Order: sequence, then C-alpha cells, then structure tokens
Amino acid sequence: MSQTSFEIRQAAVVGAGTMGRGIVMCLANAGVTVQWVDNNPQMLEQALAAVADTYAHNVRQGRIEQAEADVRLARITSAADCIAIRNVDLVIEAVYENLELKQKLFRELDGLLKPEALLASNTSALDIDAIAAATRRPAQVLGLHFFSPAHIMKLLEIVRGAQTSPAVLEAALALGTRMGKVSVVSGNCHGFIGNRMLHPYVLEARKMLLEGAYPQQVDAALQGFGFAMGPFRMYDVVGIDLEWRARELAGKGQDAPEIQVDNRLCELGRFGQKSGSGYYRYEPGSRQAEHDPEVDALVLEVSERLGFHRRVIGPEEILERCLLALVNEGAKILQEGIAGSAHDIDLVYLNGYGFPADKGGPMAWADSQGLADIHQRLLALETRQGDQWKPARLIGELAAQGKGFADD
Ligand code: NAD
Repeated sequence: MSQTSFEIRQAAVVGAGTMGRGIVMCLANAGVTVQWVDNNPQMLEQALAAVADTYAHNVRQGRIEQAEADVRLARITSAADCIAIRNVDLVIEAVYENLELKQKLFRELDGLLKPEALLASNTSALDIDAIAAATRRPAQVLGLHFFSPAHIMKLLEIVRGAQTSPAVLEAALALGTRMGKVSVVSGNCHGFIGNRMLHPYVLEARKMLLEGAYPQQVDAALQGFGFAMGPFRMYDVVGIDLEWRARELAGKGQDAPEIQVDNRLCELGRFGQKSGSGYYRYEPGSRQAEHDPEVDALVLEVSERLGFHRRVIGPEEILERCLLALVNEGAKILQEGIAGSAHDIDLVYLNGYGFPADKGGPMAWADSQGLADIHQRLLALETRQGDQWKPARLIGELAAQGKGFADD
C-alpha cells in the first residue's frame, strides 16, 4: 500500500472522557475534521460543551480569534455510533483501559472501516499487538499515547506494534508534527517508554515512605533537583485511585507493602486534587498542595504496622534511588530496542514527565555523571538493597568503553 494512502484528512475519536476531549481538540486544532463517538450520549453532550468552553476560554484569553474558535468547533461533530464513522482515515480509541473492551471495539471497527484506514489506541500500557490481533489489519494498528491534558501536553508516544508498517509510522509522525507534538516512537512493552520507567521510580519513592521518609520530603528532594513536581504531588494530580481501581478490576492483589499507603488514602476517599485531599490537602477551588500532618501520621502508622524500623532518609538518598531507578530502566529500554535512542527517552521525560530541562533528561544526566560512576553507584545499591539494582547490561558495556548513552 503506498504511503500517500495514509494521508489523514478525517478522523474519529471513540471515547469522550478526559483523554478523548483533549485528543479531539488536538485534531481539530490541526485542521483535521473529527467525528466523535461515545456509547454514553450524555457523556458526549457534556464533552462537546466542555470543548466549546475551552475554545471560548482561549478566545477570552486572547490566544485565538473568535473566528478561529468557530472554525475549530465546526470541525468537530458527534456521531451516533461507529457505523457513522466508517469513512474516516483514522480512528483514535480512548475508551476505558480494558483489553477485552478495546479488542471488541477494534474488531468492530475493522469490519466497518475502509481498508486503508488506520486504527490507533490511546492505551497507557496495554499490549498493542494483542489489540491489533483482534483486526485483519495489524500493519495499520498502532498506539497514539497522548498525555493528560492532551491538548496541552507536548508529548506523543507513537507505539509501534510488531506488525505496524513503516508507512503507518510515517503517517503518525506527520500527524504528530501537524498537531505540534514532540513525537517519540516506542516499541510495544508494558507502559511503553514513559510509564515503564515511571514504575521503578515511583516504587522507590513509595518504599522510602515505609523506610522513614514522608511524602513532602520525597517531593521536596525531587523538586529541588528541578522536577516540575515530585511523585506524590503528581499522583494527587493524576488521581491516586486510578491504579487502586485498576488493581481491583484486574483482580490483582492489593497486598504489596509499597501500595499500602495509597490503599489507605483511597479507603479514606483521599483520591488527590479532585477530592480535595490526597497526599496533600487542598483548599476548596485551589490546586496548591498543602502539607497535611494527618498524612504523615498515616504513613507512620502503615510503616509501623508493616514492621519497618524507620530511619532518617536524606535528600541525597531520595535523589540517588529515584534517579538511578529511572536511568537503569531507561538503559534496559534502550538495550531492548524499545527506544530508538537515549535522546528519545530524554524527550519523553522532558516533555511528558517534568524532568528538569537544564539536566537534559535522565539519560543525558547519567552521561553527565559518567556511566562508570553510575555503574558503581548501582552496584553499591545492589550490595545494600538487592537484585533489583543489578545494573543494566548496557551500562556496564558502555562504561567499560568509556562511552555514554549518547554514543550508543
Ligand atoms: P474516561 O473514563 O475519562 O473516559 C472513557 C470514555 O469512554 C467514557 O466517556 C465512556 O463512556 C467511553 N466508553 C466506554 N466504552 C465505550 C464504548 N464501547 N464505545 C464508546 N465509548 C465508550 O477515560 P480516560 O481517562 O479518558 O482514558 C481513556 C484511555 O486513555 C484509557 O485507555 C487510558 O488508560 C488512556 N490514558 C489516560 C490518561 C489519563 O491521564 N487519564 C493518560 C493517557 C492515556
């Protein structure tokens, strides 16, 4: 199939929740007409009103002219069901994060859409190949992972399935450029580049709460390094309950020690900013995170109940563990070919995760430290804390040659 057949003039978005709303605006702002489907008509109506409000707000702020707002809004139409969107060039799916649901939808869309249409999922972590396998066009299935809020965040992870064709990736990259995104191609693995690296980083932060630190201290150390927000402030923004509910839905255990603080907060209805309290408390209508001694008491209670002997954890240790967890996972992502280059990983962290720009991203930061030094520091952590710190093979290899990730 020729590359030009993947030109995207008309798109559809399925799902009118948090992500669907931002994605629809990204497309409309880039001049693409969008048909919008949700199986909950009320949700769709609210979403259309929310998009109109956002454009009206942009006009009041002087960011766009009224005429431009009108043109953008006119590009967005609601569609009653998937049959109505059968002529589009691309569908971006943003329904609930559930593999069976997404597979069912992709199977249905595959049967309806013209043969050259592309099918993309905005999944945060699910297996793109498993979704593609539900269709007869796996070469035209890919992930388009937007970040929340999608119309504002610059990063777009373009997820390449095992069978996604190069021409399809080209079309996705071209669309990313039209939408003004920083696009990074990622291989298919759980969490892709960004969320896969986030996992061990957050795990360290959570472990340190049990060992002796408090949320505010962990966040202060990372914000002191230059992160836009520390991990616990970030969870308050994202919603602490999302992972809690996902574990519940997937029938995963809720017993791991490091999630016990999250679980207690969720049981108390402290879901983050949206509920007025989470790791921090928020005055009504404010997004200012205020220290909450009740959370410190809760952290203390949970860690003592689990039998931890708390100790003082200083900012150096917080930085060391969180940053090296990021770098080591980044190195594994690189050696597995999930990311094309260390620079791509840095782009993901700079544009999607608030990594300090002046440090150049986690991999550039590691290079600035010297990989021989990073290797030694990981070995020291491995000796003290165990196997999870075993340095990625690539770090040892590059260190031995006196090279950095940028030379790989
Ligand atoms: P959401 O719960 O806000 O919205 C989901 C929408 O999908 C709802 O409006 C629902 O009515 C609709 N829906 C469900 N089943 C449907 C079906 N069969 N047909 C049509 N519509 C259907 O969810 P969200 O936060 O927007 O997340 C959507 C996807 O984006 C998920 O896969 C999620 O993992 C991913 N994602 C979320 C974020 C985030 O920060 N929220 C970030 C990146 C990616």
